[in-house]
Amino acid sequence: MTSPAPRREDNSRMDYQDTLERIHTALKPLIGEGKVASYIPELANVAPDQFGMAVLNIDGTVFSVGDATKRFSIQSISKLFALTLAFQREGDSLWTRVGREPSGTPFNSLVQLEAEQGIPRNPFINAGALVVTDMLVAHHGGGEGAQDALLAFVRSLAGTGGTGIQINGRVGESEIRTSSRNAAMAHFMKSFGNLHGKVGEVINAYCHHCAIEMNCIELARAACFIANKGVNPWSGEAVVDPSSAKRLSALMLTCGTYDAAGDFAFRVGLPAKSGVGGGIVAILPGECGICVWSPALEESGNSRAGSLALEMFTSLTKRSIF
Ligand code: GLN
Repeated sequence: MTSPAPRREDNSRMDYQDTLERIHTALKPLIGEGKVASYIPELANVAPDQFGMAVLNIDGTVFSVGDATKRFSIQSISKLFALTLAFQREGDSLWTRVGREPSGTPFNSLVQLEAEQGIPRNPFINAGALVVTDMLVAHHGGGEGAQDALLAFVRSLAGTGGTGIQINGRVGESEIRTSSRNAAMAHFMKSFGNLHGKVGEVINAYCHHCAIEMNCIELARAACFIANKGVNPWSGEAVVDPSSAKRLSALMLTCGTYDAAGDFAFRVGLPAKSGVGGGIVAILPGECGICVWSPALEESGNSRAGSLALEMFTSLTKRSIF
């Protein structure tokens, strides 16, 4: 694209409002194209023609457009927060139970688990997140403890505005009722000794983590610690050390958007994590957290309008990690 980069008001802050409005206008005809996730019955009821986007500068400046204050089911984006929390508890020993290679298979695939002895390829596919959840269950005295701990953690990452973030119990229960595939993975990993808790408890906590509801502004804000070398900009606390923040970003880039991660990196060029609720959270290191939401998905499970919006964002602003 040939448009000029957005104006920079000072050395540290870009004004992204015009960019977000241009993206919204350009994508309007496409919003709703694709398919809303229907394998979780409660998600099938979400109207596809919604779109919101927010950019949260680490100095607190907010830019937003469309349905950026409407909460949605964060689904697999919860895997990013669950990994961070489990890493705080386990440290590097976490990597003895889960790998860090892109899977190249769909997020809910079972095929690699047998060949790789119950060690999931990475923490952002369902099998990997189940192992991570198992760690949280062990550290927090059971499934309910793990649920509460993750909710408290995302609230703290989202700053003072995050206190109203909730788990949607209806979505959680709907997913538990249709969780045969996730339960199969969990049992299979247990047979290899890589799941320590009760399968039912782990599935329960995992499904309720996926059912957390947040809006684009809250999610962009909650991701800012990764853009800020591991420090929560709203509290000043170190969530993880700078090297671990780098590693989280690397995992987002290589594994954060399912088996479409290569194409996503090619098109967008930002570390990102998506969910089948239609949200995608991304970061621009040293600068901002970004979140886009539009429920209609591509075949891969990534939001169609969301992926296009992020692609436009890096093209228009000429800013990416590359
Ligand atoms: N809760 C969903 C599942 O386990 C999450 C999948 C996703 O967002 N990719 O299938």
